[in-house]
Amino acid sequence: MVAHDSRLWDACPCPDHAAVVVAVINLIEGVLLLLLASIGVFIFAIRRHYAIREVRDQYGIPEGELLYTDLDHPAEVLFSEKYRISGRPDYILRDEMTGDHIPVEVKSGRAKKPYWNHILQVAAYCLLVEEHYHTRVPYGVLVYGDGEQHRIDFTEDLRRQVLSTVDAMRECCAGTPVRRNHNASVRCRNCAYSDECRYCLGDM
Ligand code: SF4
Repeated sequence: MVAHDSRLWDACPCPDHAAVVVAVINLIEGVLLLLLASIGVFIFAIRRHYAIREVRDQYGIPEGELLYTDLDHPAEVLFSEKYRISGRPDYILRDEMTGDHIPVEVKSGRAKKPYWNHILQVAAYCLLVEEHYHTRVPYGVLVYGDGEQHRIDFTEDLRRQVLSTVDAMRECCAGTPVRRNHNASVRCRNCAYSDECRYCLGDM
């Protein structure tokens, strides 16, 4: 608070002078505080923008508003009540032109063309994003370690295939005790089911 010299308004003939001066000083203090808060918010927004840009450049993420990220810190697991599946895409972007929600999966390995299990993984994320954001997802994106990006169209055919794969896995798990049949952590790293698999090897 600002200290006021009472002699100044003791000499003033106006009876409300002191109250007016105090009100003006309080107003100036309020404006200064508001200004400081705005500068803080602005700096936070700039830093966040550059942090996102850095991660985007590092992983070769396509352009679009970033709605969700699981790469620089663990994100909420998306769960589908309808299909009883769950997972965490690496990113969810909103296409700035169309407003579409686009799941993005980043793979550290290289590939000349997308692996089928990776395509199914992206398709499963499309289902999760549709239910979570109550929207239709037209496609997802696979990004490989060399920065190569592949658009995976979420067609009706792919939707059917991922749902039948989920059903087949469920039937398989219900009928037979399941266990891992290998000790190769590299297979788990590239596996579409590593998020959910309790036998997964390594730090996923
Ligand atoms: S994560 Fe699970 S299902 Fe995938 S390869 Fe590893 S053990 Fe097999």
